[in-house]
Amino acid sequence: MKKSLIVVAALALLAAAPLFFRRATAGPAAAAPQERTSLMLHKATFAAGCFWGVEVAFRKVDGVVNVEVGYTGGHTVHPTYRDVCTGTTGHAEAVLVTYDPSKVSYAELLDVFWSSHDPTTLNRQGPDIGSQYRSAIFFHNAEQERAARASLKEVEESGVFKNRIVTQIVPAGVFYAAEDYHQQYFARRGMAESCHVGIAQVRTKLAAKAAELRKAMAGGAVCDPTDPAACGMSHWTQFSDEELRAKLTPEQYQIAREAGTERPFTGKYWNEHRAGTYVCAVCGQPLFSSTTKFDSGTGWPSFYQPLNRSAVVERTDKSHGMVRTEVLCSGCQSHLGHVFDDGPAPTGLRYCMNSAVLDLKLEKQPAAESSATESKRAQTADEHR
Ligand SMILES: [Zn+2]
Repeated sequence: MKKSLIVVAALALLAAAPLFFRRATAGPAAAAPQERTSLMLHKATFAAGCFWGVEVAFRKVDGVVNVEVGYTGGHTVHPTYRDVCTGTTGHAEAVLVTYDPSKVSYAELLDVFWSSHDPTTLNRQGPDIGSQYRSAIFFHNAEQERAARASLKEVEESGVFKNRIVTQIVPAGVFYAAEDYHQQYFARRGMAESCHVGIAQVRTKLAAKAAELRKAMAGGAVCDPTDPAACGMSHWTQFSDEELRAKLTPEQYQIAREAGTERPFTGKYWNEHRAGTYVCAVCGQPLFSSTTKFDSGTGWPSFYQPLNRSAVVERTDKSHGMVRTEVLCSGCQSHLGHVFDDGPAPTGLRYCMNSAVLDLKLEKQPAAESSATESKRAQTADEHR
């Protein structure tokens, strides 16, 4: 890393040299170039789930010079992706961010960090399960540690996240760059970038900026969460249309991909009362808790709120001559149903879902790995060969 820092610094020096030269020849009256690159580049390391998407989030930040994906925080030397996927190396999928502190502060990077994942799920991001997907801030010095702890406190006190934040704040150790094919994964494949880094969920003063940034990101061609077509399938699923047709029943396909609706009182969950978590039948993303389920009398499973703010995506649906709010899985953009404002307390909302695109994971069952994670592994294992 030191070597690459020197290289980056040297490049920055070379890039800046003409500016100095121009200034010198133009005399002291010339305006200082605003674009001048600081020669003191800093490093920051974050883990926030699958690094493909996290890389994208930080690469969009003005002042970030480079983002490298890799592994850190574990106990093995020179781990491979395959090693890390086993969940036994202790390493987390992480990003090493090189930034210009004159253009972006560490606090702003923390904002992006908090805003680009769910820091309340232990060893898990969406369907990706295992300690390698943990949420962690690896500080490089005492100043970063202080900033990270202050930021954590601020985000915690904001009450934005419903659940307790489980993010680790630990010293940065050796960062092992991931295999080349993981670097700029989406950009190199010309793929729609991940929705994993979806919408800013924090409302602190610090995070307001990140929310704007994320809004700007979403508004661009990057990944608009209100437009699944722009987003494409999330990297969590990696299903082609063909694979989806093979994986899903015709009814599931019609609902998930063509915004269909099952006939009321026919689904498997409209009258379901067992305790557990309803997950997306397509990608395995946890969506609703049985504790928020109620009998709506409609013949469709109904909930008054999703599991958390990032579980689902909502967008306006003007089909069939009505203005409704469509609800999609944020993990794979599958259509799930609609939300109406005639639900019970405490939210007054009724999330009217289709049973066919839900799977109930009963409580006290050992958490099974989602097929999406397996699919991702199989795919990445293939790339590895
Ligand atoms: Zn899904």
